[in-house]
Amino acid sequence: MRKPQPGTELRSAAEPPAQVLFRVCRPGWAVLVEKNPAGVSTRFVCPFCPHSHRVPGPVRGFQKVRRAKWIKLRRVAE
Ligand SMILES: [Zn+2]
Repeated sequence: MRKPQPGTELRSAAEPPAQVLFRVCRPGWAVLVEKNPAGVSTRFVCPFCPHSHRVPGPVRGFQKVRRAKWIKLRRVAE
């Protein structure tokens, strides 16, 4: 039986990109945005309102957030 050696973790390109949360128009909900190294902003059609919002990367989903965390989130531009 082999034990994993310390310091031999693989940090390859297969590692998923970092994701950040941005607050949307609906209180208590945040949009999960993948960090885009190119800095290209994208628009996504919002399921909560008739507008689309501009976020700094591709949208990976939505997440319900608690109030304390919600306050710290940045707003997305419409
Ligand atoms: Zn919206």
